Amino acid sequence: MKTFSEFLQIRAAVLRKRGGPLKIESLQMEGPREDEVLVRVAASGICRTDIEFVDDWDESEAPVVLGHEGAGVVEAVGKKVKKIRAGDHVVLSCQSCGRCGPCRSGRPTACTRFWEANFGFARLDGSNALERSGVRGHFFGQSSFATHALATERNLVKVAADLPLEVLAPLGCGVQTGAGTVMNSLKVTAGSSIAIFGTGSVGLAAVMAARIVGADPVIAVDVKRKRLELALEFGATHNILNRRANIPSRIAKMTGGGVDYVLEITGSPEMYQVAVEILNPHGIVATFAGGSATGALPGGRKEISIIQGDAVPQRFIPELIKLYREGRFPFDRLVKFYDFAAINRAMADSRKGRTVKPVLRMK
Ligand SMILES: [Zn+2]
Ligand SMILES: [Zn+2]
Repeated sequence: MKTFSEFLQIRAAVLRKRGGPLKIESLQMEGPREDEVLVRVAASGICRTDIEFVDDWDESEAPVVLGHEGAGVVEAVGKKVKKIRAGDHVVLSCQSCGRCGPCRSGRPTACTRFWEANFGFARLDGSNALERSGVRGHFFGQSSFATHALATERNLVKVAADLPLEVLAPLGCGVQTGAGTVMNSLKVTAGSSIAIFGTGSVGLAAVMAARIVGADPVIAVDVKRKRLELALEFGATHNILNRRANIPSRIAKMTGGGVDYVLEITGSPEMYQVAVEILNPHGIVATFAGGSATGALPGGRKEISIIQGDAVPQRFIPELIKLYREGRFPFDRLVKFYDFAAINRAMADSRKGRTVKPVLRMK
């Protein structure tokens, strides 16, 4: 068993320059501490948040390793780790402190230290396992654009070993967020109307979830025709190609009024306005920008800001895997695989919308 005094040689994609490219480098990483788990990463999805960090990177800060949709096999565990063992297959998700009120009451996405735990590029005690290489890790408690990651029991989900880890990787953030918004945050019920603005991986996972819960109509809106076709295959009842389309009047025609729920995933202020305009009284618009909910809107309408679809990953990801096995949640169809070395091409394809969900294979 390795202890934290030992270092491992890993390879990781390092961000040193705003806008990229990321460079794969050899780094030295501490082995797991008492409460940590060392994971040999098999695959990692690329999510919009990774790309936003590349684009907004502050070059005056120490370089970082991104990646927060890892999946892999546990190589070693610290001695205080109880539920995870070497050899377990795991999906990595978002990190939380485990000690604050919301964490103790089972709401890790409301953790009072959520920002620090996921975006602090350090452990919660301020230390950093990649310190010796002058690089910062621990992004979402993982930094999975690497051959190895250090996680904890709180952000690991044990999964069955018969499913390919490279398919399961995106469950940890994008897919969980899309499905969780519909099923946990909004608790959409059968017969409710829902519109989904933006049909990337989060939006398409939301479409699949909307069909599972029996929402009707399910209206997908995007600028990309191909994605709208996918949305229809995954259970959207209507779609709107958002070029010159007059969205509010078209939605009014489809529903005979407004909609009960809007997922505004595009981040565009214009689309937010459209969302507010078409909401039914008491309707809810879910936004994804990361915590700027304005609260009350006219007529009992509400905005909520979504973090990870309010999922408890250890409970929700197994539910999604069960639905996947039943053929009701075909999120694997969103995925395209890339070699780790092609990480920059995978990001470029994602930016251009050529790939819905790129997944890197680390081998
Ligand atoms: Zn993400
Ligand atoms: Zn907490």
